[in-house]
Amino acid sequence: MAGSASRGLELSTPLLFEQGASGRSGASLPASDVPAVDVGAVLGAHRREEPAPLPELSEPEAFRHYVRLSQQNFAIDLGMYPLGSCTMKYNPKVNEWAARLPGFARLHPLAPAHAIQGALELMWRLEQGLAEVCGMDRVSLHPAAGAQGEYTGLAMIRAYHTDRGRAPRKVLIPDTAHGTNPASCALNGMDAVPFPAGDDGIVHPEQLAPFVDDEVAAIMITNPNTVGLFESNLKTIADMVHEKGGLVYGDGANLNALMGKARPGDLGIDVMQFNLHKTFTTPHGGGGPGCGPVGYKALLDPFAPVPVVEKQEDGSFALDYGQRPKTIGRLRSFHGNFGMMVRAYTYLREMGAEGLTKATEMAVLNANYLLARLGERWHAPYAAPCMHECIISDKHLKETHVTTMDVAKRLIDYGFHAPTVYFPLVVKGAMLIEPTETEPMATLDEFVDALAAIDAEAHEDAEKVKAAPHTTRLRRLDETRAARKPVLRWTEPEPEQAEAAE
Ligand SMILES: *Cc1c(COP(=O)(O)O)cnc(C)c1O
Repeated sequence: MAGSASRGLELSTPLLFEQGASGRSGASLPASDVPAVDVGAVLGAHRREEPAPLPELSEPEAFRHYVRLSQQNFAIDLGMYPLGSCTMKYNPKVNEWAARLPGFARLHPLAPAHAIQGALELMWRLEQGLAEVCGMDRVSLHPAAGAQGEYTGLAMIRAYHTDRGRAPRKVLIPDTAHGTNPASCALNGMDAVPFPAGDDGIVHPEQLAPFVDDEVAAIMITNPNTVGLFESNLKTIADMVHEKGGLVYGDGANLNALMGKARPGDLGIDVMQFNLHKTFTTPHGGGGPGCGPVGYKALLDPFAPVPVVEKQEDGSFALDYGQRPKTIGRLRSFHGNFGMMVRAYTYLREMGAEGLTKATEMAVLNANYLLARLGERWHAPYAAPCMHECIISDKHLKETHVTTMDVAKRLIDYGFHAPTVYFPLVVKGAMLIEPTETEPMATLDEFVDALAAIDAEAHEDAEKVKAAPHTTRLRRLDETRAARKPVLRWTEPEPEQAEAAE
């Protein structure tokens, strides 16, 4: 049903509810060989009077709908995705092969431990690998995302204090932090207390000192931090907090700058999350199943989420449900999102210690190359060198009235996804750029050239930049309205665009 609204072979697709016909189906089931059940009798008054008005489609109709939608989207498999703090690196396809092996893909989550020894061993080995990369004693694979990992780590910290008969509530968070940090505090009934980082972008012990007292449950610190700099005072900071009985939470989202080079556990961090979709090449699903393991030191082990995979003396693997009476409990159904664990483990084994170290080196080198080249034209608020990401801003464009948002939109016309914009909040008009190790130098050069061209346009034809993007099916949207009142139907290209296409 490619309608007139299609552009070339980029095809339109109606809503699922506008397609198909009553009785159409993509499945054919064999005749039932078990006795029929009267659903009405089971459900009683809860039974619907009318069938739910769901779409009924053939397989090609359903398949084409989603493939067409996917072609209107951008993906790491199409090009560079320089979103800072997100580590949008290429996901090797061997991960997908491993996750689809029938012995993994078809496991039933209720299968007893003796029947899933291979899967338990994979979880145990992934735990060992992640613990080694980060210098932690143990790792829980339960949480379903980085943010849930933060929540878990703070819940363990809270349980640790409670167990010692204390109830400190303050969690110190530098003003460069990701928004999930204070959110994780609030969900744990703790108070996020912001404190300023230095003008050079990192935390200094003397600036932190006034905030450290007996009421501090923890400090949450991201290293390297969200302005792309290594927190070189971390060990001193950790000692200060430990001295008052507090613990140190490490936001591990930027681990792609440390692997093989430094271990958060050695720098004084007690508990941290891994974002497997960032550092360990599992997909950045749009809200789909994810995995954000939490690594922790032995002092937090009694509070770990259950079940925990334990290796037994005879070499077999068991699930511990009962041996941790002080556990914070369950975070996810069953064992967490196992498919993500298979992908991450595949990546770990494929790379090995040397490969992970090399990835870190290339990620940092690529970011510094961008910073050096972009810094020739753009305002760069922090001195080089950076870690795996760098920041520029729109400061030098002030008199042109072109803003970071305009630059981000214009980049689309040049075939690049925008970097992270207006984050971190401490840099006005920030563009946080993370190239990752998987982009070759030629792509980085094209990206620099695109930004140079936009900079020139901003000075010569600011209106053109401010009206970007010019080449997309839809032009610049009112972002608030697009979020509050989304229009999901494919619409005709705007007349001006149709002309441009001709
Ligand atoms: C991505 C990110 C998070 C949140 O992780 P999710 O896996 O997206 O939930 C937290 N902190 C920082 C610094 C991040 O970049």
